[in-house]
Amino acid sequence: MKIAKPGKPKNPKQRSLYGDYQSNVLHSYYTDNNNSHKNKLPDTLSGNERPFFQNLSVVEQWIYCYQILEDSTPLANDCGVYCSAKCCSGGPNEGMLLFPGEEHIYETMDVEDIDEFTIKSSNIALPSTQLEVKFLICKGTCNRKLRPMSCRIFPLLPWIDKKSVVRVQPDLRAVTMCPLLYNNQLPQIQHRFAMKVKHAFLYASLIPGTMELLDLLHEETNIMKKFIGL
Ligand code: SF4
Ligand code: SF4
Repeated sequence: MKIAKPGKPKNPKQRSLYGDYQSNVLHSYYTDNNNSHKNKLPDTLSGNERPFFQNLSVVEQWIYCYQILEDSTPLANDCGVYCSAKCCSGGPNEGMLLFPGEEHIYETMDVEDIDEFTIKSSNIALPSTQLEVKFLICKGTCNRKLRPMSCRIFPLLPWIDKKSVVRVQPDLRAVTMCPLLYNNQLPQIQHRFAMKVKHAFLYASLIPGTMELLDLLHEETNIMKKFIGL
């Protein structure tokens, strides 16, 4: 399934994609100062982007967000060479949280595709919407086109600040696993990748329950920040 983009808004400046990457954690480690002044990404959707997205089904909404991140990776090269793809080496009880409604994508898949994944309850119920957060377990390899959002944005985590602006920061839940977060001898995470994550979540934050889950994950990150001493 391919979701077409909405038509261009009248003001072309409103469509620029990159810029304004803000990490308040490990900031000096991978802020790309050479690019941060260029191509500002707006903090909100504009023109017809918001109604276009809200008229999609939840499956189409997540696929649209996947499309924004298509071919975007933390580094220009395969970062798995630095760690033997550690983030794909979890055991049978380790997996990734699915964002609210993302599980429905897997319900639409062919049997042989869904066979790559097991979806369970995470036992997390979002406090306001009472949506149950699902958990996806994989076999350590997958068709990349089918991987969930958590894998597409790893090791970054979007969050929504008090002014409802989407921010992107390192996902500290990954800090002992992902060498991009602790080994400063490695290349820095691409600014462009962080901007794509932000762009995808300008949309995804409109999907019911997503902001609430991001809030919970942000709280968890804040606890880890204190623990690590950042
Ligand atoms: S753990 Fe980090 S460095 Fe290793 S493959 Fe995953 S994202 Fe890349
Ligand atoms: S779903 Fe795919 S990308 Fe995600 S951890 Fe499993 S093998 Fe890796």
